[in-house]
Amino acid sequence: MEIDTLIHADWVIPVEPEARFFEGHSLAIDGGRILDILPAETARRTFEAKKQLELPGQAVIPGLINAHTHSAMALFRGLADDLQLMSWLPEHIWPAEKRWIDKEFIHDGTQLAVAEMLRGGTTCFNDMYFFPDITARVTAAAGMRATVGLIVLDFPTVWADDANAYLHKGLEVHDQYRNHHLIRTAFAPHAPYSVSDPPLQRMRVLADELEIPVHMHVHESRDEITQGLRQYGNRPLRRLGDLGLLSPSLMAVHMTQLQDDELKDFASTGASVVHCPESNLKLASGFCPVARLDEQGVNIALGTDSPASNNDLDMFSEMRSAALLAKGVAGDASAIPAEKVLRMATINGARALGLNDDIGSLLPGKAADLVAVDLGGLDTLPVYHPISQLIYATGRDKVTNVWVAGRQVVKDRVLTTLNLEEILLRTRKWQAKIAEAPECSGSTPGNPPQPTSGPTDA
Ligand SMILES: [Zn+2]
Repeated sequence: MEIDTLIHADWVIPVEPEARFFEGHSLAIDGGRILDILPAETARRTFEAKKQLELPGQAVIPGLINAHTHSAMALFRGLADDLQLMSWLPEHIWPAEKRWIDKEFIHDGTQLAVAEMLRGGTTCFNDMYFFPDITARVTAAAGMRATVGLIVLDFPTVWADDANAYLHKGLEVHDQYRNHHLIRTAFAPHAPYSVSDPPLQRMRVLADELEIPVHMHVHESRDEITQGLRQYGNRPLRRLGDLGLLSPSLMAVHMTQLQDDELKDFASTGASVVHCPESNLKLASGFCPVARLDEQGVNIALGTDSPASNNDLDMFSEMRSAALLAKGVAGDASAIPAEKVLRMATINGARALGLNDDIGSLLPGKAADLVAVDLGGLDTLPVYHPISQLIYATGRDKVTNVWVAGRQVVKDRVLTTLNLEEILLRTRKWQAKIAEAPECSGSTPGNPPQPTSGPTDA
């Protein structure tokens, strides 16, 4: 039988079934989909492949899914660090957004982020930012998958003037990408403190109608709870529940502030949590009780958050941070073992996005979103347990080859769909422009910039 591609690897880690790996197996790929996973000898006898790839010492895993980011903010990486959320956002990030964000910024920032993610083994991301149409276009052109957030805020920004305008423009983007094979959409109300009840009610109805997820920052910091109690007389989760938003289509990002009863009630709704351990640590936002949520059966996905609060889009380091932090918070070294963290970064992300029939694990019939990782170097040998090795001893620099829907987008560590030199050149131009601006110094005593562009990140 003639097929497109055969990939022979020392290990194939399918994620489903859980904690399994196959030694000396091959992946048969045809028409952008996984046809079979079988012993290499049998594969060589069974299939005639147009392309064959030998990957000795390497493991093939499903493409990683970054379930929460603001990708174009890659151009703000390292702009303002070591600050509390409520200083970082209004005094640094919002003024920078007001000053710099336009279509060109989103194009160049998204391209930088897409290049970084693809080369680090991420094949799909869930985004929330302005100009989602441009994010979608740049991502699709690079052959990557994304769910672009149809962002909604109460405040005017460069993207829209009020909640109705955000919704209207978001629905246009949804229509534009309704049948795209790589791009999906989700409603992305920024947070309980930045979106009022009427647009949230409308989004709930529309999300049911269009069958798309709702992606929102929820219970990120203690300040958010205090503000919610003051403004609405309720903790934000309770308010979202009253509005009917707690359902399997919700992706609640962060969730660091949870009372026992809230945790149980949330678990019964079928909503997903997106855990962003490095952003939470860097902004000192608090700790998401991942092990307890997992015990209650909550689907937990993993995200990097923006490159301005992390400061990278590295899902390998995020997996390791998630594993280590969960053990520390639970006071239990067996909490969230390596195979569970790998599921968070793959199939759980797919489930949260409603894409688990298509991506998130290596099963026949699923899209061939694959990542090859070299475990043969001096810093990853010996290999007794390949899944543990991936989480505890491997970095994204070990990613060698990446495929999205069967198309090879990274070959021997080189991007095949993007021009790296051009991206670096444009990034340096932005760096020069942004670094010269007065607000970049971060010290404007007595004259703090006004947050008129509205909150976006974190
Ligand atoms: Zn965020």
